[in-house]
This record gives sequence, structure tokens and C-alpha cells, in this order.
Amino acid sequence: MATNPPQEQTTEPGEFESALETARRQLAHAASQLDIDSNIIERLKHPAKIHEVTVPIERDDGTVEVFTGYRAQHDSVRGPFKGGLRYHPGVTRDECVGLSMWMTWKCAVMDIPFGGAKGGIVVNPKTLSEAETERLTRRFSQEIRDVIGPNRDIPAPDMGTNAQTMAWIMDAYSMQKGETTPGVVTGKPPVVGGSYGRDEAPGRSVAIITREVCEYYDRPLDETTVAVQGFGSVGGSAARLLDEWGASVVAVSDVNGAVYEPDGLDVAAIPSHKEEPEAVTRNTDDVLSNEELLTLDVDVLIPAAIGNVITEANANDIQAEIIVEGANGPTTSGADATLTEREIPVVPDILANAGGVTVSYFEWLQDINRRAWSLEKVNEELEHEMQTAWNEVRHEVDSRDVTWRDAAYIVALSRIAEAHQSRGLWP
Ligand code: GLU
Repeated sequence: MATNPPQEQTTEPGEFESALETARRQLAHAASQLDIDSNIIERLKHPAKIHEVTVPIERDDGTVEVFTGYRAQHDSVRGPFKGGLRYHPGVTRDECVGLSMWMTWKCAVMDIPFGGAKGGIVVNPKTLSEAETERLTRRFSQEIRDVIGPNRDIPAPDMGTNAQTMAWIMDAYSMQKGETTPGVVTGKPPVVGGSYGRDEAPGRSVAIITREVCEYYDRPLDETTVAVQGFGSVGGSAARLLDEWGASVVAVSDVNGAVYEPDGLDVAAIPSHKEEPEAVTRNTDDVLSNEELLTLDVDVLIPAAIGNVITEANANDIQAEIIVEGANGPTTSGADATLTEREIPVVPDILANAGGVTVSYFEWLQDINRRAWSLEKVNEELEHEMQTAWNEVRHEVDSRDVTWRDAAYIVALSRIAEAHQSRGLWP
């Protein structure tokens, strides 16, 4: 991805719930269905560490501006902390903590030997030149240098950051260390140790899970209509793959709004965010709002742009029969309760978009072994990992009669609790 800006919030949520509140409520709900030591649940409500740094940079006009950066490290019982870095004006300490919790569950549901972290800088990257973004990234890397590392905490791209951002962090870290250390970040360009297929991976996993959930509910993919909110690295890749696999993608959107064609869009003709940012509605005057996209009469809805878009204010208006979460935290807990009552299955983010961190893990393995995998191998392994995780979650849904979210949490929490149990509390 070039240094393109992130998608910004385009809908007015009916209620505000921070990522941390949502994550804690989800944890409490899942814990109530499981026989897990309450001391471990208590521990998991809190992050292990939160780092807050100031990041001064010289702007192109010579003035100095000071930004705030965070790295929240939630849990590392199963391996080094792992998770993205976002550059967005809405980044907060609590948001980083909530998102770091989701990374812990995401890695555990995939059975990847990593814990959870998330960080970011409170900045609108659209207001920075490329040179300013580079200076900001290098200085931030310096400020968090002591708390990251290939065996400690491994950042990756998230909203507003991309492969170039990761290359700068890798370079800054390596220069300070005096040795080239590709495994300190994932999501780098392949030429400096990045993995083929990493950019597309979150969208690919969303598409795989959509295919599986459609099969589960006896819905042939070629008779399925899909609406995708967001056309970035998650939504764009998911929409293209689902279109290739025979689904009818009837609506997609970006920050400017949505295009809707009930007979199916020519998805391949819509430029991806990487090819041309914010160009989804370029060739039409018939633009729907992002809010309208969410309530279209479709079989599958994939919110893949930002968090908190399905709220108590619109959960009763959702007409989709299945929701697959592409973004992190698109559904508030109030909305989740309404959708459960309405018997609309919601396949959670921690499973559906976990392809990103899964291919990050493949990248980390390739970096350690100094041996690159082919794109075919990456996609084959990703397919296998997603199938395995899907089958484990599906088993919990079938045997316990719980929601998809609770089932994914049950798989994740059981693994994390067992690891805590066997390691014990130190000292
Ligand atoms: N930012 C991505 C996520 O939310 C990927 C994290 C990673 O690869 O470490 O899952």
C-alpha cells in the first residue's frame, strides 16, 4: 500500500462505546459461559503495560509539533505481544487497550504463539507530507524501541499505516541495534523481509469465513448477495475474492459513500484503495450513504471500515441474514444483544479478519528462518489455518448452542487460561 490515508468515520453511531468497554463486556459475557478461574478473567481485564510517549517532529515549514503515541501490551502468556499500529485522530489510550485485548483473543483463536498489543499515534495522516510521516514514524520507533523487538512485541500495519511505515520502523530499529532485524515488524514490503500475500490476507480470511458461514447455513455462494462497508485492505480484498468465487457483491463503499447495484457490481472495475484511494463512487451520481449500506436487503453484510458502526440505533434496521465482521469492533455490545435476539448470526472480527495476523506470523517465521515463502504457499497455509480455526469455533457453536462471538471467545479463552494456569503467577 502507498502512504494512503485511512478511511475516516462516515457514520454517526447511535451511542458511543469505547473499544475497551466493548472488549470488557464481551470478555465478561464469554467468561460467564465458561468454567474458568475468575482470577484469570480478572487478570485478563487489564493490560500488562501501557506505554505513552510524546513524539516531536519538525514539520516541513520548520515548526515543531508534538504528537502523542501509545503502545498497549495486553497479554503475552502465549508468546510475544503482537498487533497493529494506527495513525488516526481518534486514537486514545483506551482504544489501544481494547484493541490489544482483541489481538490477544485473535492470536489465541488462531492458535498462533503470540499475545496481544496495539498502538498508534493521535494524528490525521492526511495532514502530513510523506517526509513528515517518515520523521514521525522514525521518532516514534525510537521512543518505543525498548519495548518492541522480534521476541518482545511485533507491530504491524493498521488504520493509517502500511508496508512503508513498517519498513521505516524496521530500519530505525535495525540502525539503532546495529543489525538488520526484519522480525521486529510484520507487514513490510517483501523486498525487506515482508511476506507475499500479507496485504490481502485480512480480506482473504474474511472471504474464506464468509464462504464457510454461507455453507454452514446451506446458502450457495453463487446465490448470495453481499454488501461490504469499506474498500481498503480488508473490504476491498474480501469483495474481490467473493466476487471471484461467485457471490454477487451488490454494494461497496469508501469514505465518500456507497455504490449499490442490486444485480451485482463489477467489483474488479472499482479501483482498490491502494490503486486509487477513495474512488469507489467516482463514476456514479447515485451514491448511498455508509449508513444506508448497512441496512440494505442483502444476504451477507460485511462491515470492514471502522469500529462502532452497528449500534443500538440501527441494529433493528439491519436486513442482512448474516454479518461477518471485517473491521475490528464494528458492533457495539448493545447492538450485539439485539442481533442475537433477532437471530442474525454475527461472525466476529477475532476470527473473520484474523488472516492479517496469521500471515504476520508466517512473515515472522520467514524472517527468523531467512527464507521466503511463495504466494501459493502463503495462501495455502492461510486457507488451512482458517479452516482449522473455523472448525474449532463451529464445534463450540454446535455443542454449546452459543453465538459465534461467544464460541470464538470460548476457544480463545480456554487456550489463554490453560497457558496462565500452567505458567502460574510470578513471583
Ligand atoms: N492490524 C491487524 C489486526 O488488527 C494485524 C495485526 C498484526 O498483523 O499483527 O489484526
